[in-house]
Amino acid sequence: MSLLEWTGHPFVDAGLAAVLLLANKNDPTDLTEKDVESAIDFVSKLYARDEWNSKIIHGMIFPNNGILMANPAMKKRRTSENIAKNLNELFSEIKNSSGGFNCVICGERPAYDKKEVYRAVFPLLGSGDVTNYFHSGNPKGADICAHCLFLAQFMPIACYRLPRILLIHAYPYDIMLELNKDAIRDVKLTQLASNAENFTKPENYLFHRIKEITRKVGTHKYWERASINLYYFVCNNQTQVLDIIHVPTSAMVFAAYAELVDSLGWNKILMAGWRNRDTRFEELERNYRNEVYSRLLNEESILEYFFDRQNRNTNAKWELLNFYCVEVLGMDEKSLEFIKSIGDRIVETLQKLPENKLRDRVRELERAERRYQFEMFFIRLEKDRLELGLEKPLLSYEEFASILTAYGEDLNVSWRTAKNLLLFRIYERLHEKLLKVGEVEAQGEAEMIFAGGEET
Ligand SMILES: [Zn+2]
Repeated sequence: MSLLEWTGHPFVDAGLAAVLLLANKNDPTDLTEKDVESAIDFVSKLYARDEWNSKIIHGMIFPNNGILMANPAMKKRRTSENIAKNLNELFSEIKNSSGGFNCVICGERPAYDKKEVYRAVFPLLGSGDVTNYFHSGNPKGADICAHCLFLAQFMPIACYRLPRILLIHAYPYDIMLELNKDAIRDVKLTQLASNAENFTKPENYLFHRIKEITRKVGTHKYWERASINLYYFVCNNQTQVLDIIHVPTSAMVFAAYAELVDSLGWNKILMAGWRNRDTRFEELERNYRNEVYSRLLNEESILEYFFDRQNRNTNAKWELLNFYCVEVLGMDEKSLEFIKSIGDRIVETLQKLPENKLRDRVRELERAERRYQFEMFFIRLEKDRLELGLEKPLLSYEEFASILTAYGEDLNVSWRTAKNLLLFRIYERLHEKLLKVGEVEAQGEAEMIFAGGEET
């Protein structure tokens, strides 16, 4: 067993990440006692400062923490030496602890029993006023060992300070270190908690970092093995709140792929996820929730954001759409190719139609909110083909049946998916023409309004 180790618990792992990053190491088995001592020295100096002690330690993470001397009553005795002394005592407990494995976090060591373990020293636990809150029946609080308690005291410097505290917990741990790196860098640089480049929404910050790291590593595959949870919390005497945001691996892989293959398109998709589009991307990214991120996190479809219905234009390349459908929605390549080929056949027919009919057909498809309306679009198009004297039908009976029914009732892969993919293909290939038809239409409407004005 190494001196310190990963446990899978976010608060404890973040503490270990901090110790490792301070020592410039990746593997806990490489840590020496000297590394730990200099980490103790570093945080003790930091935590003795008022900005940390009262605002962050006491105000946001560990209310009345006795180890870090954040209890306002300890103000007079609060020095970096005294904080270091407390941390060193706890550290020596790790080395001396034996005879038990009941720590609820690591399961490797006995629960620490020299002092009480409540939310003052481990965030989001009970206050200690109601001892039967702890299921283990331990009157001294949670069954947490010296090792896990010790590491949790380093957690604050690996976190980001948004309106609340953001802890990024990731597996494998090299990815965790990568995502916590900037927090430690900022702390070293400014002696203050990292402000996450002024981001105020935790998920926006994560996607921003995914973008940066992907550019550095040069492949979306980096994220294929990643499992990430965001812990967004505050724990003080007045409030204890926690949001846990699970980040689906497919969302990270897609965001990374989008950045590499079509970053312009990805930005357009994201812009469509904000309502106030007059504002600059950088500002929106920092301050506003994005519908596209929310949908990706909730594993809901973002297909509609791949095109701009108002301007009948596409936001991204087919290649990106293809990746999204296969990797995120789970469609198979064959059905995707099938829908694409039908889209191309529809485009060929539409191109032969007079402008007014072309406009009507596209509108019918756009407005199809029920399946029978989607069916009607195909039936009308077949009639158009007959009128044009085209002999072969657009679709065989089997094809017609399969585009309507083969995708089941799964919300992600239903006839609506087919409809959105068809629209994408039509906008992609007929944008110029649709724009022209749209202008004629707008002009026509203006003339009608004008004529109406004359009559009165
Ligand atoms: Zn433990």
